Amino acid sequence: MGLDVNTLFLVTIYVEAMLGLLLLFAWVQNSNIHAVAWWGCAHLLRAGSVCLFGMYGSVSDAISIDLANAVLFTAFAVTWTGARVFDGRDVQPMYLVGGAVLWLIGCRAPFFVDSMEARVLLASGIITAYTWATAYEFWRGRREPLVSRWPAIFMLFAHGSLFLLRTPLSQVLPWSPTNQVFDSVWLTVLSFEALLFTIAIAFILLAMAKERTELRHKTAALVDPLTGIANRRAFLEEAAALAKRHASKPRPSAVLLADLDHFKSINDRFGHAVGDQVLRVFAETASAKLGTLDLIGRLGGEEFAIVLYDAGRDKGVAIAERIRLSFAEAAAMVDGRPAGSTVSMGMVICENGLVDVPALLAQADEALYCAKERGRNRVEVASLELVLERAQQSATSSGRLAAQSAA
Ligand code: GH3
Ligand code: MG
Ligand code: MG
Repeated sequence: MGLDVNTLFLVTIYVEAMLGLLLLFAWVQNSNIHAVAWWGCAHLLRAGSVCLFGMYGSVSDAISIDLANAVLFTAFAVTWTGARVFDGRDVQPMYLVGGAVLWLIGCRAPFFVDSMEARVLLASGIITAYTWATAYEFWRGRREPLVSRWPAIFMLFAHGSLFLLRTPLSQVLPWSPTNQVFDSVWLTVLSFEALLFTIAIAFILLAMAKERTELRHKTAALVDPLTGIANRRAFLEEAAALAKRHASKPRPSAVLLADLDHFKSINDRFGHAVGDQVLRVFAETASAKLGTLDLIGRLGGEEFAIVLYDAGRDKGVAIAERIRLSFAEAAAMVDGRPAGSTVSMGMVICENGLVDVPALLAQADEALYCAKERGRNRVEVASLELVLERAQQSATSSGRLAAQSAA
């Protein structure tokens, strides 16, 4: 192979150090994601270990092989710890230094020192274990929709597998006849692969951190921070997307507007914190009654909107009644206070799918008004009769106003 190992070593030290500093710089700029600092330190440790390897011959083997490997294993352990920290898990000091300690203990056993196979086996085993453990940590956090998580898992798994295969493969393609480490083809191949891997993984880890930051900003813009459900903007966007997805085969849908009853008096009697908790209880109890295609959002204050997909009048009313009753039960006592909160709902049924959600919400609002008028803690469905009744009511009240102003 035409690659010069010394050149590879120098390039690797330089690249590892640069990547380490780059990751630390990225962490300083956005210190929310601590894992980036761990990953930066891992690269710097690897640069240090390659420096020690490079001193082979000019210092004792205890430094250029034993200590160098111990530092290298710790670098892999630090990357693994970074993956744990990235997904909110704790640092495990025992396992963090476990690989290096195991190696250094082995290096004191004469049998181990004399057996190249045993050394290669243990070194490969430790690197594979940490690399696969890192892939596993990212796999465990896969519920967070980060696209860059998948190439990271794949690369870590492949890199770990290569190290594990090193022992059987070295039987096929043995170390150099003189058993001199630095003559080995394997060292060249592995150093080159390690260099490519380290560059790729640094960029993927950085991409993961960046993607998470972007995802959090996006989520913050679309999620109501108090209840954790969609805010008005997200709800309307999701409803429009749902309508578009099913435009070719529209199903009847129910659109509901829910408004908590006498909510102001809950704030007045028990304080704003209890009011906030009542809002959370509504979001939770209502969400629990919804199907996977249904939508819920907080439009503002104590007003919520719900879309029941594939629900005609009977099914829509049944679900709305279930929400109303379960909320009344859950909000009877909140934070040990007799909140006794209830909800009124207005509903509109759209037989041909979700055509114009804001217009449907306006109709549901008319029905909600009637629910309030008719005593609260009830569900009303918008209908032609209801529209006529409301028109009559507003005509009467404007007539009354006109009569008052004429008098
Ligand atoms: P009605 O039965 O007619 O709907 O009466 P209401 O008291 O529920 O309605 P009103 O519109 O008079 O009062 C709504 C109250 O909701 C007023 C406002 O202070 C309170 N509110 C709005 N947003 C929040 C919030 O995020 N937390 C809390 N605790 N209160 C809120
Ligand atoms: Mg209101
Ligand atoms: Mg209200």
